[in-house]
Amino acid sequence: MAWFLNHYKCARCHGSWTDEWSCMCDDDCPHCGARHMSPDSSDELTELIEEEGNAFVVRWSPESAEHTPDYQELGRFQTYEEATSFLMASRHLDSSLSMPAVRGGRSTIGRPSPRGGLKRKGR
Ligand SMILES: [Zn+2]
Repeated sequence: MAWFLNHYKCARCHGSWTDEWSCMCDDDCPHCGARHMSPDSSDELTELIEEEGNAFVVRWSPESAEHTPDYQELGRFQTYEEATSFLMASRHLDSSLSMPAVRGGRSTIGRPSPRGGLKRKGR
C-alpha cells in the first residue's frame, strides 16, 4: 500500500490543507466544510526518512498497510546523505519511485511526536 500526503485546495473558499491517506482520495474542506475536494497534488510517502536523535531512519510502508502507513524500518544512517543514497540505490530496482519526503528536523517543525503526527480519519 502506498501512502500519500495529499495537498488540497478548496474550490469554494480557496483554503488549502494537507492530509495523509493511503490513496489520493477526496477530502472535505476543514475551513468551510465543502465536500469531496480532490487533491491538488500528492506526495508519495511510501518511503520516508525520519530524523531520530542523531540518526536518520529509512522507513517504508508495506503492502499490507491499509489504514495506517505501518512503517517498517529499513535502516539507520549517520547522515541524511547516506540515507538518501541507500534509497537511491534501492530505486535502481524500481525507477518509478519518486524521491522520499523527509520528516523530522529538516522539513517539519513542531511535529508532536516521532510517530504520532498522523491525522486519523474517522471513516
Ligand atoms: Zn473551503
